[in-house]
Amino acid sequence: MALDTSPSLRHRIDADTYADPDAVLSKLISNTKLSAASRADISAAAAQLVRDIRGSSAPGLMEVFLAEYGLSTDEGVALMCLAEALLRVPDADTIDALIEDKIAPSDWGRHLGHSTSSLVNASTWALMLTGRVLDDEHPGPVRHLRAAIKRLGEPVIRTAVSRAMKEMGRQFVLGENMNSVLEGAANMVDSWVTFSYDMLGEAARTDADAKRYHLSYSRAISAIAAACTSDDIRKNPGISVKLSALHPRYEVAQADTAMTDLVPRLRALALLAKSAGMGLNVDAEEADRLALSLEVIDRVMSEPALAGWDGFGIVVQAYGPRAGTVLQTLYDMAERHDRKIMVRLVKGAYWDTEIKRAQVEGIDGFPVFTRKAATDVSYICNAKTLLGMTDRIYPQFATHNAHTVAAILHMAKEREAFEFQRLHGMGETLHRLVMEQNETRCRIYAPVGAHRDLLAYLVRRLLENGANSSFVNQIVDENVSPQVVAADPFEMLESTPAASIPKGPALFLPLRENARGFDLAHTQTLEAIYTARAPFATHQWAAAPLLAGEVDTRSTPQPVVNPANPQDTPGTVRPATKADVATAFDAATIWSAPLAERRRILRQAADIMEDRHGEIFALLAREAGKGLPDCVAELREAVDFLRYYAAQATTTPPAGIFTCISPWNFP
Ligand code: FAD
Repeated sequence: MALDTSPSLRHRIDADTYADPDAVLSKLISNTKLSAASRADISAAAAQLVRDIRGSSAPGLMEVFLAEYGLSTDEGVALMCLAEALLRVPDADTIDALIEDKIAPSDWGRHLGHSTSSLVNASTWALMLTGRVLDDEHPGPVRHLRAAIKRLGEPVIRTAVSRAMKEMGRQFVLGENMNSVLEGAANMVDSWVTFSYDMLGEAARTDADAKRYHLSYSRAISAIAAACTSDDIRKNPGISVKLSALHPRYEVAQADTAMTDLVPRLRALALLAKSAGMGLNVDAEEADRLALSLEVIDRVMSEPALAGWDGFGIVVQAYGPRAGTVLQTLYDMAERHDRKIMVRLVKGAYWDTEIKRAQVEGIDGFPVFTRKAATDVSYICNAKTLLGMTDRIYPQFATHNAHTVAAILHMAKEREAFEFQRLHGMGETLHRLVMEQNETRCRIYAPVGAHRDLLAYLVRRLLENGANSSFVNQIVDENVSPQVVAADPFEMLESTPAASIPKGPALFLPLRENARGFDLAHTQTLEAIYTARAPFATHQWAAAPLLAGEVDTRSTPQPVVNPANPQDTPGTVRPATKADVATAFDAATIWSAPLAERRRILRQAADIMEDRHGEIFALLAREAGKGLPDCVAELREAVDFLRYYAAQATTTPPAGIFTCISPWNFP
């Protein structure tokens, strides 16, 4: 992988990926200067919004549904698993097995009649009956009867559950194709409401996928063009695109190829959007693609033919400590290319993924805040920054949280200078009330596409809204008072202790330390690896038997050739002779050193391997042609084994080993 080592956009963006969250937040807070009185006003206005939403006759189905089936219940989790899988299971048998697995064990009865929505109550009835029919643990004739019902009922159950899931999908998808969607949307649009359309479907897996998505985006832009009737681009509908849909290897490891293909694809879409007089928005995705996405955006923004177009939009995620740096970078970029751009500020939809990925990879930090209040504070502070950049940036505030909305209304002087955004199927009442009371604009992000492509989008919505801390989850829960729902996040940040989510290195404590992780999408980490590896670029290794006895030196060293580069011979290997094997066996004894000593040696071996990762990576690459991810995986596996066995070691390890492998011990 070629790495540009000059100070670059990538360096700047990645410098703060794992920045100390407290330091980032205290800088944001001190720059924002929201007084205690302002914060109290914001919370009071937000609490009133909560009361108004609760008093409204039409709470959204999503809000009601989540109030009943949050992720903290077994049923909520079962539903999410179903939603995640059902729409893409092709055959009836697997659908039945899946339904049985997810529905039967849950206690649906306790949800019966709880909800304010008859649709949610009806779903509970259906799920409860389904659960009863599928619950097969009763002996005797009842069991046979139930088995018969189950057999007769399976197609019915399958159809009912699939319908329920599709109904849920329909809540979030505006329509299955662009033409029908545009017809329906025409009734909903006025000078204050418009749309940003999103073509459903997630990351491209192949280049054919990417070309198909590109074509589908191009067609969508052409179709939307007919609805772009205003001279003011802010009043026209727009489109949101995902770079991961436009390239199958949109990742740092393939940065050169990705840039070569992605830039012209995005540029072509931007030119189309420009000619239609509409906005084109690049959605924000996982944190490890952030710097690369900004490089693509920078290149496209520099296109001379896009001069005079104010519709290039970029999404910034407030849950990352880099949000402030990204905003400044975008502002500088717009200045440099003399453009006006749009920036949609979101909190971020990949929180769970980011936390899990960092832990699994053993990284000593998270690319996102770990406290909900921190994300809320970051959002408000960065919103203030954006409101001070309106000479170059049109801010678009995407949130369904009444407190966040109230904070923006409090900070924004001019209603015309920004817009709110919400997702189709969510936050309807909040944004209707806000528009009526404040004459603000609102853009609805509206997914378009077949229900089978809904999967990843639906899971993100369920995850973010199903969490107890989520605003949508709290709004319909009458047990939570409006003051609590609208509590000041600045205050919460001070008064609540930091979250105790274990970082990668601490994942297996107190048993053992996790193997060190390497974020291979992080510029500074990559540079450190290249530096550590550099001294071994031409090093010659001479491998030979290492014995507790005299080594037989008669065998001839064999040259080793780098399978990825035949010109490179990293050294030689001298094979063991029969005499070496005999010496090894003769010298083999039970390792009788004291337990503490055995453990210390295993742990020390792990530490030495980690310290010498530069040499190990170079050797693995040159001897076996391994790529960097494989090198990291191999080193981490070895280190994990050593630390695991050090932790597991007992006073009688050899007996344990033999017991385990002897044939007469098999069950
Ligand atoms: P809230 O309930 O106030 O916030 C929930 C959010 O808080 C979570 O999603 C998460 O970001 C954060 N959070 C939750 N728990 C924690 C925790 N323990 N520590 C730290 N933070 C936490 N998202 C993208 O990533 N990319 C996009 O391109 C994108 N486009 C969008 C477009 C629109 C129009 C809208 C409305 C949303 C978009 N989103 C996008 C999704 C957006 O990120 C979520 O809808 C949003 O995070 C929910 O925030 P909220 O203010 O509505 O709700």
